[in-house]
Amino acid sequence: MTMKLLTVLVFLVVCFAYYGFCEKLSYSGYKIIRTYPENEEQWEAVRSWEERGVDLFSGNREYANLLVPPQLLGKLNESMIENGIRTSVEVEDVKRIIDMEKVNEDKIVEGRLEWDRYYTLADVHQFLEDQAAIHNTIASTFVVGMTYEGRNMTAIRISKSGETRPAIWIDANIHAREWITGAVCTYIIDQLLNSNETEIQSWLDDYDFYILPITNPDGYEFTHTTDRFWRKSRSHNGSPVNCMGTDLNRNFDFHWMENGGASSNPCSNTFAGTAPFSDSEAASVRDFLTSISSRLVFYLSLHSAGQYILFPTGFDATPIPQYNTYMSIGNLAAEAHGVRHGTNFTAGSVYNLMYTATGSSMDWTWSALGANLTLTYELRDKGEFGHLLPPDQIYPSATEFMDGLKVIIAELSNGIPDVDP
Ligand SMILES: [Zn+2]
Repeated sequence: MTMKLLTVLVFLVVCFAYYGFCEKLSYSGYKIIRTYPENEEQWEAVRSWEERGVDLFSGNREYANLLVPPQLLGKLNESMIENGIRTSVEVEDVKRIIDMEKVNEDKIVEGRLEWDRYYTLADVHQFLEDQAAIHNTIASTFVVGMTYEGRNMTAIRISKSGETRPAIWIDANIHAREWITGAVCTYIIDQLLNSNETEIQSWLDDYDFYILPITNPDGYEFTHTTDRFWRKSRSHNGSPVNCMGTDLNRNFDFHWMENGGASSNPCSNTFAGTAPFSDSEAASVRDFLTSISSRLVFYLSLHSAGQYILFPTGFDATPIPQYNTYMSIGNLAAEAHGVRHGTNFTAGSVYNLMYTATGSSMDWTWSALGANLTLTYELRDKGEFGHLLPPDQIYPSATEFMDGLKVIIAELSNGIPDVDP
């Protein structure tokens, strides 16, 4: 029996026997340890800890951050020393940072959000309904699909009347624990509907926007009720040991499960699902994007963290035909993102900057639908807080994001060539 399973079983027994419901995991005593493997053997040694109850939390080609329970800290440390792997403590007290997060407890009135706190799924959906009602000549909500647990994947369409226009799709929180992404996404919606800036308002003359702030509602709800670090969907995935969920961003049909870009282990955080589009959330996004594919010009997916502007592919190092165009747009956007607070974004392909990742929504949209521009963002930060970005960074993240989005949409409007000139 693996440590992870043991932890889950103990947790379930405590849940049902003592509380009759699932008490929230406190993460008391957990640390985030950064490891710097320098060769394939050392990477293997780091990865092997996933089987033993350690969450491979985030990272790139240079380091991996591990979320380590208190009972494993000593053993992990010994193993790293034995294998000659350099480490540093990234977050000393995970619980303290979780406690700093502020989740809204007020009633949403007339679709007004504050970008100094995080919101529950119900609040975000209320925001969408209210904003659509207030701006009913240009905005309406629609349901992209149903989740495994039967929740609506509610999105908003912002489109001036008259002819249909080229379409821009934005999604966030396909990874449940990346709360900053849904928060920035609601800010984009707010700006499209409520900003007085002529530049932003002019986008609505040229484009129709389709925006899905919480792409993984089951997982997002679970991060609020039970486990702050849940990443995947909440589907039963055939695991004999009852591990749950699929990494929805490995479940799309682009080199699915090839090249080590996802995991076949249902207990892993990068489990690719039982087949391409085995999870309803991924299949629903596919179906909706396909329905607007003839006019889809820009696909944007928001993730955290690391401050990267990423483009296809995550499969291998082969540059896409628009590599230089993407690099130049990414670099221009990065410059704009940095103006307000000096935040440093880096542009590049997923494979070059991050790691091998196959079956992502962006790569599938790029290859199957041929959208002119497909980008994935890793928002703030670069590791200090990671997925637990403190609420006082939400507004700065959102406003600096808009600065770069302006540059990207200006480039889009100038025309993106299919092949580098
Ligand atoms: Zn993510």
